[in-house]
Amino acid sequence: MASEEETKTSSPVFDAEAASCLMKELRGTFIAGKTKSFEWRSSQLKSLLKMVEDSDKQICDALFSDLSKPEMEAYIHEIAMIKSSCKLALKKLKDWMKAEKAKTNLGSFPSSAEIVPEPLGVVLVISAWNYPLLLSVDPVIGAIAAGNAVVLKPSELAPAMSSLLAKLFGKYLDNSAIKVIEGAVPETTALLEQKWDKIFYTGNGRVGRIVMAAAAKNLTPVVLELGGKSPVLVDSNIDLAVTARRIVSGKWGCNNGQACVAPDYIITTKKYAPVLIDSLKHNLVKFFGEDPLNSPDLSRLGHSNHFARLKNLLDDDKLAGKIIHGGQSDKSNLKIAPTIVLDAPEDSLIMNEEIFGPLLPIVTVEKIEDGIEFINSRPKPLAAYVFTNTKPLKEEFVSKISAGGVVINDVTLHLMVDTLPFGGIGDSGMGAYHGKFSFDAFSHKKAVLYRGFFGDAPARYPPYTPGKLRLL
Ligand code: NAD
Repeated sequence: MASEEETKTSSPVFDAEAASCLMKELRGTFIAGKTKSFEWRSSQLKSLLKMVEDSDKQICDALFSDLSKPEMEAYIHEIAMIKSSCKLALKKLKDWMKAEKAKTNLGSFPSSAEIVPEPLGVVLVISAWNYPLLLSVDPVIGAIAAGNAVVLKPSELAPAMSSLLAKLFGKYLDNSAIKVIEGAVPETTALLEQKWDKIFYTGNGRVGRIVMAAAAKNLTPVVLELGGKSPVLVDSNIDLAVTARRIVSGKWGCNNGQACVAPDYIITTKKYAPVLIDSLKHNLVKFFGEDPLNSPDLSRLGHSNHFARLKNLLDDDKLAGKIIHGGQSDKSNLKIAPTIVLDAPEDSLIMNEEIFGPLLPIVTVEKIEDGIEFINSRPKPLAAYVFTNTKPLKEEFVSKISAGGVVINDVTLHLMVDTLPFGGIGDSGMGAYHGKFSFDAFSHKKAVLYRGFFGDAPARYPPYTPGKLRLL
């Protein structure tokens, strides 16, 4: 595993001048029209699919090197997702590219109209370390399908995947239009100084603000795929075994909590908490054994700063006596055991920043409806989950909770449904992708009105006489 220092020093030099040359080259390719044809788009998507199919072993090795990600997780959450995204784009591309007829009105009579999707131009995708294949390649699929030239800047904090993607993109894709630039803050800063037609950023809100500020200088639109504290409200009239199993798998079985949609905290009633906690603990032992620090089925933490940040959340004095399960850590292997915290004070660190790791606080309330108020008193999350068998609570949750996405009686699964837009709201981001939404994220919907040379209403032209006014 490479340290952050090693990663930084081994990054290729990429400065403002290099960024400007890169933009000139890609702009030239785009203006020449190469990326716009159906043939180019589908050939690149086919090559991308082949790239992933040919390289699954190398991809798993890179994910293991960067995160000790279990092979099964690598396949299900990254490789299979990319393959299905690519196959969907290939299957639907012709339809997505079609102009859509639009109705006209009396004001333009006689006329016809359509909405023509056009590529934006040259776009930048900046991705994060936690799902370093998926978060890099999935937006690129949308950018290619929509007919753009694209630069991918993978995360320097997943160095094995970053260099693998640079190598594979170089080998499989048209490098006059699709490039990978590796690097950290200086390289990304150089890229951000260019005038892009869209910037698609995945990562934390602090850097999201830097990206948006840089984009604003050029009036460049952005998609910001950020995170947040995604709550899980657990009612008492549920199937407990299924609920606990799904929460444990969605929290710790997805990159050990390092997923943007991972359950961040649970809210349940004081009365129900003890049974829920027992069932969560039971599933933790069943899935990851008595010694989870050595479980091959748990990813490690992404990097040493991330380990230190999570350890700091755990070592908060305000959590004294509140850690009811787990809490062990292994700095040398960047591991923290699945940990449950009961009733952390509202002003504790763990209740005030996105956890993004294996710690799970449980908040107890008197009645389940109080949970809705608790969630709504905080920034809008990327995802919100509720487990209940009560129809009014389901309806209240959907209507009152504002979040990027909501799931009833499960966690995280909405991001696998490609007919649903995936994205945040408020502090959890803006814009969305997945399936057709990815194509739309990288397209402009151009309004086109067709007219002939007949059918002019006289009232349209001066002089504006009272007689003409009466015609309106
Ligand atoms: P990260 O550290 O890999 O950073 C993301 C990208 O930002 C990297 O490519 C990095 O080089 C770049 N970057 C970092 N500092 C920068 C700076 N000062 N200027 C310009 N670029 C800079 O990833 P992270 O931010 O630690 O990722 C974790 C966060 O991302 C969490 O908040 C998580 O919820 C969120 N996330 C969201 C999604 C989503 O789809 N909504 C997916 C994954 C992660």
